[in-house]
Amino acid sequence: MSKKVAKKEEAPAKAEAAKEEPKKEEAKPQKVEKAAAPKQEKKKKKEEKGIHAIYKVEGDKVTRLRPTCERCGPGYFMADHSDRYMCGHCGFTRYKRA
Ligand SMILES: [Zn+2]
Repeated sequence: MSKKVAKKEEAPAKAEAAKEEPKKEEAKPQKVEKAAAPKQEKKKKKEEKGIHAIYKVEGDKVTRLRPTCERCGPGYFMADHSDRYMCGHCGFTRYKRA
């Protein structure tokens, strides 16, 4: 037989209140410091298509990658669209054959 001894746990009566004095921060002028994050360079250089884009040089031969305008004559290249060629000079449009 054993006696059940209810042991009274002593509750810590003295809850030590940590008396911490509120830290007095020196009145600093609030500087809005901007994060010096490197700005994302949005400079995407568009590769300019020069006049060389419509010529293809193969050795001594020069091939023109765009057809010339029939109305304006040689020297006037037509824009290469998906389904047609168009002259930007006179507006002549030539449809591609499927
Ligand atoms: Zn033309």
